[in-house]
Amino acid sequence: MDNSSPEAPMVVDHDDPDSIAEVAAAYALDALSAHETRQVRDYLPGCIKCREAVAQMSEPAGMLSYTVEPVEPPDELRRKVLERSRRESAGPPGTPIVQEPE
Ligand SMILES: [Zn+2]
Repeated sequence: MDNSSPEAPMVVDHDDPDSIAEVAAAYALDALSAHETRQVRDYLPGCIKCREAVAQMSEPAGMLSYTVEPVEPPDELRRKVLERSRRESAGPPGTPIVQEPE
C-alpha cells in the first residue's frame, strides 16, 4: 500500500459505518496507538466522512449517543420489527411494537 491516495488506514473498515464510528471514538479519546493515530491523522484530510465522524465523537453529545445506543440495528432485527408492526397495526391500539428480540 502506498501513501499517495487517501485510502482508509488499516484501523478503519470503510465499508462498515460501525468501524468508522469506533475508530473515530478511539481517536477522539486518544485511545489509539501512536502508529494508528498517525495513520488516522494522515488520512482524515482526504475523507470528509471520517472527519465528520471524528468531529462528532469529539463532542460530548456525539460520544454519549455512541456509548448509549448501537449505531444501527442489524438488518434482520429491523426487518422483524417492521414485519411485526405491520402485522400488529391491525390489532388493538396500544400493542407494543418493539418486543424482546428472540
Ligand atoms: Zn474515511
